[in-house]
Amino acid sequence: MIFDLKSSFTFSNDISSISKELQDSIKSFNSKIHQKDKTVEIKDIKIKKNILYFGIISEGIFRPHNALLQLKNEISKEFGKKHHVGVREIKITGYNISFELEKKPLKDITIPFADVKFKDKIATIILKEVDEEFLQRNYIDRMINRVSEKVESQYYEGKGEFWKAIWESAEKKPLWNKDPTEEMVKNKWLEQGPTKGKWFYRAQATAILKTMEKIAIEEVLKPLGFQEVIESHIVPFDIWLKTGHMEGMPGEFYYVCEPATRDTQAWERFVDLTKITKEVHIDELMNNLSPPKAGICYAQCPIIYWSFKGKTISEKSLPVLVYDKTAISNRYESGGRHGIERVDEFHRIEPVYIGTREQLLKLRENLLDCYKHIFNDIFDLEWRIAWVTPWYMQQAGKIGDESTQDTGTIDFEAYMPYRGDRKTSEWLEFQNLSILGDKYIKAFNIKAQKNELWSGCSGIGLERWTAAFLAQKSLDPNNWPEGFRKYLDKLPVGIEFL
Ligand code: ATP
Ligand code: ZN
Ligand code: MG
Repeated sequence: MIFDLKSSFTFSNDISSISKELQDSIKSFNSKIHQKDKTVEIKDIKIKKNILYFGIISEGIFRPHNALLQLKNEISKEFGKKHHVGVREIKITGYNISFELEKKPLKDITIPFADVKFKDKIATIILKEVDEEFLQRNYIDRMINRVSEKVESQYYEGKGEFWKAIWESAEKKPLWNKDPTEEMVKNKWLEQGPTKGKWFYRAQATAILKTMEKIAIEEVLKPLGFQEVIESHIVPFDIWLKTGHMEGMPGEFYYVCEPATRDTQAWERFVDLTKITKEVHIDELMNNLSPPKAGICYAQCPIIYWSFKGKTISEKSLPVLVYDKTAISNRYESGGRHGIERVDEFHRIEPVYIGTREQLLKLRENLLDCYKHIFNDIFDLEWRIAWVTPWYMQQAGKIGDESTQDTGTIDFEAYMPYRGDRKTSEWLEFQNLSILGDKYIKAFNIKAQKNELWSGCSGIGLERWTAAFLAQKSLDPNNWPEGFRKYLDKLPVGIEFL
């Protein structure tokens, strides 16, 4: 890596008379840095009236922008006392950073704050006119990482995520091959919701979804000792910044705006317009809204982790086993929406677990046993389990890699007969189970008395459980397996529409 910085300090007074002293001071500062990093060189020192011009190059771990800030402090201390001059302003007139990439870029990229040029495997970031605050904020290292990451992702594009089946049930003869959503709509169990990707569940569909919830609680969460918690639906950006969701999927959130005020005077014109035109005047509305600072729940775990932020958990309370079934997940699925299985608003139960590595590996076995019991003995499903690497783990080296199966994500997938042949059609991911190492533990600074903590979560999608079950077992309760009929054997009588 080569860092080449051109800078100047503007002093409060003319410094030409102390030019020699300044040069000596810079030299001794330079030799001090050499003890840490031999490659740092302060060069091309020029003095004109009250301005000191110089360059700093480095090829090592000590970044010129850090050297620059230290030099400023050093000079201010020394010359402030002796000559009553201080550094008024730091100017960076040019900052080029060249580094070798692992792979040759396939095309040009752009990043904020700088131009990026490539020559074979060498990338050069060219910054112009940056200020002191910019340097202090550690943006430079993150810009270098972002360039490497963007080039790396050029090689992944279109490749999808890592996927490997690790367990498969026996083939089951489907009882029909219809799309359960379409049939439920025909039967008036379900209505398309008022906005995109939402549904209105009438009593029959609701009974099935609620049965799914009951089965998850009775067969998994209660036996394993999970405790229910209730969290907020609204997630402030700082939580998503910590979990990585903010950079991971900003295009999938539903954003939340607060009113700028509840002062009736401020809203008077909006109310007048609404009463007179019987329309919503969006421009007038926007005048009275604050910009969003939060979004609607995407998954429940971020707020659960936040609730443990900075806390030390007693050994007695480990493993922590909690779940939320209240917050409703919202995701902007755009073109992917389909039936009740890919919606913008869905009902999930999310168990979250925090404990030692051994506790969580054991828990994963126990969760798997409970889940297998449900899908084999209660639903009688044709399904499989696959090892996958989700987006947020792909950058993180070994996590999710086959070589270590301690951490990573397991997807549960069901055959959907209405989609076609079991070999060639896409199966539905109806839930997942992750152990995420210390990623969120670190992000939220969660501690134990002596042990290192890990965490994980499992997303139980009630719409997906329902879609998978009905796609194989039909809408007729007489067809349903005995185990399921113990939970629900008769559907409510619906409303008759004329
Ligand atoms: P997909 O790849 O299908 O989009 P995902 O990887 O985004 O799923 P996760 O974030 O892992 O899903 O969420 C866990 C669970 O939440 C899924 O297994 C599924 O049960 C449910 N889920 C996710 N997205 C939806 C959706 N749009 N509609 C209904 N359920 C969903
Ligand atoms: Zn989660
Ligand atoms: Mg998704």
